[in-house]
Amino acid sequence: MTGFDTIVMVDWSASKAPSPKRPSADAIWMAVVKDGGAATCTYHRTRTDVMMQLETLLAVELAAGRRVLAGFDFPFGYPDGFAQTVTGQADPLALWADFARRVTDSDDNANNRWDVAKQLNRLFPGVGPFWGCPAGQDGPDLPAKGTLRHGHGMTERRAVEQQIKGAQPCWKLFTTGSVGSQALLGLARLQGLRERFGADVSVSPFQPATTPIVLAEIYPSMLGVDVAKLQGPDEIKDRAQVRVMAQAFAALDGAALETMLGEGHPLEGWILGLGFEDTLRKGLYTAPKPPKLTNDCFALPAGIQWTPVDDALALLETRLTPVTAVEDVLGTSSVGRVLAQDVTALRSNPPLPNTAVDGYGFAGGRGEGPHVMPLAEGRAAAGLRHMDAVPEGHAMRILTGAALPDGVDTVVLQEDVTVGAGQIAFNGPIKCGANTRKAGEDIEAAQVILPAGRRVTAADVALMAATGVDRVAARQPLRVAVVSTGDELVEAGASAQPGQIYDANRPMLLGLIAQMGHVPVDMGRVADNRDALAACLDRAAAQADVVLTSGGASAGDEDHVSALLTDAGAMQMWRIAIKPGRPLALGLWQGIPVFGLPGNPVAALVCALVFAGPAFGLLAGAGWRIPQGFDVPAAFSKRKKPGRREYLRARMVEERVEIFKSEGSGRISGLSWAEGLVELPDGAATITPGDTVRYIPFSSFLS
Ligand code: AMP
Ligand code: MG
Repeated sequence: MTGFDTIVMVDWSASKAPSPKRPSADAIWMAVVKDGGAATCTYHRTRTDVMMQLETLLAVELAAGRRVLAGFDFPFGYPDGFAQTVTGQADPLALWADFARRVTDSDDNANNRWDVAKQLNRLFPGVGPFWGCPAGQDGPDLPAKGTLRHGHGMTERRAVEQQIKGAQPCWKLFTTGSVGSQALLGLARLQGLRERFGADVSVSPFQPATTPIVLAEIYPSMLGVDVAKLQGPDEIKDRAQVRVMAQAFAALDGAALETMLGEGHPLEGWILGLGFEDTLRKGLYTAPKPPKLTNDCFALPAGIQWTPVDDALALLETRLTPVTAVEDVLGTSSVGRVLAQDVTALRSNPPLPNTAVDGYGFAGGRGEGPHVMPLAEGRAAAGLRHMDAVPEGHAMRILTGAALPDGVDTVVLQEDVTVGAGQIAFNGPIKCGANTRKAGEDIEAAQVILPAGRRVTAADVALMAATGVDRVAARQPLRVAVVSTGDELVEAGASAQPGQIYDANRPMLLGLIAQMGHVPVDMGRVADNRDALAACLDRAAAQADVVLTSGGASAGDEDHVSALLTDAGAMQMWRIAIKPGRPLALGLWQGIPVFGLPGNPVAALVCALVFAGPAFGLLAGAGWRIPQGFDVPAAFSKRKKPGRREYLRARMVEERVEIFKSEGSGRISGLSWAEGLVELPDGAATITPGDTVRYIPFSSFLS
């Protein structure tokens, strides 16, 4: 078996108290990369917290038939002979089970590691091998300094540690960089995973890595230079370490990872990937940008004169793929971004059962009639976990949002209660569970909350935050270069000769691109001159992901966009059966798709909405979306010939749709008057007032 679906990397901590509330260094960080995507990194204040999250993840992945490699940055084994003396067996995993029995490690990180170290040291002759502790803990069983040890018979370093400068020996328990304490507490926790997941989990290199879950030892300093290079400006180093490690392992092919997992010392353990740093590093610097489009992506089936709109759309949908790179962004700054991966809840919402109202909580429902109950001491309020259980038959004051104390599953509304003399009275019936919210009734931990391809809304950011998600894998915004072509064009504001017209398309298309959620890149105007156009397309291809031109797209003498793309061998004239609209010139320039729109502003806008809109959504990673239309009664008459689909400038007035007074394709005022388009079918049609027609608001084209 080769290959893992999910890579998890954990930066462990032996801290004796919960780490600060604010994500900080020297605490526990976990990075998860699924299917080679971007990393999800989480901060954990306690070992219990990270283990709970990890166990949920492992259970979900296991149930989905997916393989997980989980790395931890502490030694998995000790110098040869240690396990034998402690457990009577050479098996390093017998040592894990032994640690799990000795170690107590509370939910708040309080633990007995000094006592465990003393117990272990007593099993050896002389003094040691463990050393290092805070003042007051030291003594003959645990020396404060390494130099006070003697006669314990253990070597100082494992074989693997002789290969790496700077790695700390596992005997050192105290002060910076000491991994000894982390291993004592960590191995006890990992033994818990082994017990829970049984034959589905193996430990590298002690067991063959053929199970769905594989645990391995890692050493992030191995890629220290890379972590320093790739650390984000606002990123905590520990976070960068687990993220970079996870990305490096996730980028490996199955065979390379299998080779690494095959290395190691059967008794002392091994650091996964040691000696393969260059292989690991490679995956970090290959751009995560998706492959470019193929040259024939705009090829049309042979022999077709006029392509129906639906066929043209279907071709675009099948030929185009996302072209934007994936990056890791703060959830709070992701509004408007397209998600590159499904986002899963890190925590349930609500996390605990709580009350939906202000009132009085007790256990069980009550039947018809009056009820009197003694009030228990204290009250439960949001943010305050009430520790003592509410005694049977008693009620407790409880405020909206408060977690239900033990002994409470039902809440009666305060308005329905009379309070006095340490008692409450109210009239039944009240159902068991009334006025309460179940844990996870909104969202369960590990549930997908937002799908890949979604453009993040403000409400989505609330959902992410409520379920503990702080960073997401998002696509970089699609950059769309906009070019106007034509000798006749001048810029509004400049003086125009009689034969000149102002460039209306460029500002319109730049605005449209921004409204679609992409990044418009203004490339200015180019004259009807091949070299100038070629130079402009060169510049556009260097700065943008796609180019949108207007004008010069037909087959006339001055139609340089189509001529140039034809010469480059990567252009197709799409004669689409659409009105308004002349041919679209579609092609690739240096691997970048070029959408050549007609110059006429009405045709340019309609073709941009109908074709470029869905196509750019796909290039941006947002999937293919057909604008939402509505069947509404017409307020107009119209007779149309068969052969072309028609789009009319339209708007709703009193629940009927009216159209602009003129169909003249040069009438920009009609575009501005309109709030959407009426779409008339490809075939012939006679419309009289009251007939149903399809109306598509402009907003539908933009979402
Ligand atoms: P073309 O497709 O280049 O033959 O242009 C068709 C018509 O649209 C001509 O009348 C052009 O003057 C006009 N046109 C082309 N580009 C623009 C533009 N950027 N703004 C306004 N009108 C334009
Ligand atoms: Mg022109």
